[in-house]
Amino acid sequence: MSCGSPAQADEHGEPEQALMPKRRPIPSRGSRICQRCREARAMFIIRSALYCRSCFEQNMRQRLMRQLYPALRPDEARSKNPSKRDNVRPPIQRGNALIALSGGAGSMAMLDMMIASGFIGQGDGRRADLKKGEKEILWDHATVVHVDFSGVSDGIEDRTEWLQGVAAARGLKFIAVKAEDVFDVGLAARLGLQKASERPMPVLEVGIHDAGMSLKATTSSETPLQSLKRMLATLSPASRPAFLCNVLDAILEQVARGLPDVSHLLLGETSTRQAQRIISGTALGRGWSLPLELASSCKSEGYYQVRAMKDISIKEASMYCWVNRRAMQNHRKWTAGDLHSGSRGKGSTSLEGLTEDFIAGLSVTHPATVSTITRTGEKLMFAGGDDRDSICPLCRLPKEQDPLEWKSKTSLTSLRPALTSTEDEESARFDLAPHLCYGCLTTLTASASKKGAPQSAILPQWISDRIRREAMRSEISEFLLDDT
Ligand SMILES: [Zn+2]
Ligand SMILES: [Zn+2]
Repeated sequence: MSCGSPAQADEHGEPEQALMPKRRPIPSRGSRICQRCREARAMFIIRSALYCRSCFEQNMRQRLMRQLYPALRPDEARSKNPSKRDNVRPPIQRGNALIALSGGAGSMAMLDMMIASGFIGQGDGRRADLKKGEKEILWDHATVVHVDFSGVSDGIEDRTEWLQGVAAARGLKFIAVKAEDVFDVGLAARLGLQKASERPMPVLEVGIHDAGMSLKATTSSETPLQSLKRMLATLSPASRPAFLCNVLDAILEQVARGLPDVSHLLLGETSTRQAQRIISGTALGRGWSLPLELASSCKSEGYYQVRAMKDISIKEASMYCWVNRRAMQNHRKWTAGDLHSGSRGKGSTSLEGLTEDFIAGLSVTHPATVSTITRTGEKLMFAGGDDRDSICPLCRLPKEQDPLEWKSKTSLTSLRPALTSTEDEESARFDLAPHLCYGCLTTLTASASKKGAPQSAILPQWISDRIRREAMRSEISEFLLDDT
């Protein structure tokens, strides 16, 4: 299939025929009436249909609810009334909501629609009076969490103060975590999170340039920010956005698990971002766990993670923010500034950055293609089982069988042969590479730069924690009873 390019002209000056039609032309002034209420003057074209402002906002809220409801409705109600599942308001939830807010259009529009729909209470336990026509709230209270990446690069602005004001104006609690806090052993205790470890966690250093990525315990006097910058300098420039994605997910998971009574973590990831994820994830070798990454809701330890904006594009979310006069900043700039400049100079960039540009261009010229990519992604099914033992410590998703062997067949790398048990005992070393999934083996690719790039880096706490548990498991494995 080829999208063609209507802008291109052949040698006779005639434009080439595009195999996929461009977006529908804007109707003439006389026919600009909302196609939903058929009364008001239309302001927007959404999926080739004309909408007035009120119908547009209603349509957006309905699509948000369609993603939210399956995770909120008890199983019994879902099975009894499958035909009405999009119309029945779910009951009040047992826990509270945790809303991830980046300041981008997706999360800002999500927060605004949830407040406008009356989903979130004030934390006073008040219930709606249904006899008076009031609608039941879904969560008694919500907390907003923001992860600040401004320390990573000079080009990334600090949005903490602005977003704190946004949360305060809506009567919500606010938690700000810095990206470098993934290296801070005292983060959980500092935020007052539950499950803070009483024992000091070991600090592990990984040799990224080693074939097996050997680990060793170390004592470090680095600040968390220095550790994060060292890790990013060690990695290839193309791998840095993928690593920062892992940092974001790990922080949100830690906060969701640590705060008391969180039942739902709500993410404002739009369909445009999902389309980028599908293309870049496939290219980076994350195909195995991609269906799990794209799921609109999934149950984690004690809470549901819901991608409530999965059916709404970044353009629609931006329009919602625009008509409601909400400020937004869409660019993450994870590929900007000193993150962007790699060993190959200005031309070096990441797959995420390239995909982002590609999808943004596509959504302007051929908007239907972006939703086709998203719909295709929705059809993907996870082929693995529920094997808790084969979880990748970096992305915390199931890993495929023998990714190292697969990697050795598909890339020009020389990998050290796997250690035999006797060698393992003699050297008493623990390698990271055999525990990673294929996609994360690609992410932890060392920088090719010989000049000044560090050879090793401190591991973030969430990886050290899982490695420690793996190591303990292997140490005591001979004492574990077989299930059979
Ligand atoms: Zn209308
Ligand atoms: Zn992984």
